[in-house]
Amino acid sequence: MPDSAIPIAPTALPHSLGAALWRGVRGQCPRCGGTHLFARFLKPVERCRMCGQNWTLHSADDFPPYVSILLTGHIMAPVIIALGLHEALPMWAMMLVVAAMALVLLIALLQPAKGAIIGLQWWLGLHGFAGHAGKKEAGVS
Ligand SMILES: [Zn+2]
Repeated sequence: MPDSAIPIAPTALPHSLGAALWRGVRGQCPRCGGTHLFARFLKPVERCRMCGQNWTLHSADDFPPYVSILLTGHIMAPVIIALGLHEALPMWAMMLVVAAMALVLLIALLQPAKGAIIGLQWWLGLHGFAGHAGKKEAGVS
């Protein structure tokens, strides 16, 4: 546990990697799940107000956009195929719909992806969390 993180009840800690990821996806603190992980759209809070976990230690870098692009591509592929089967829809209209949907989906998935990656790094003790893995604190091996 980082030096300034407040000890919390073991029941408040996530019981698995999936639980830590899910808290991050929902924009909650992966450690305690009690408050917001993000101060702004993609800017995590410096410290959790409830458990004191330092979230500046993460190093998500380009991974959240990569995940967002990957998911958007897999979600959009069937949509593009379905729209392509409609011969009544002009090509320019299809391109407009697909571009708008892809843009909205990409932006909408960025924050959940970043939250999940921060939760993953904390759970596994990667980057700045080295030596303070969440799974070790939660007693999961
Ligand atoms: Zn917290």
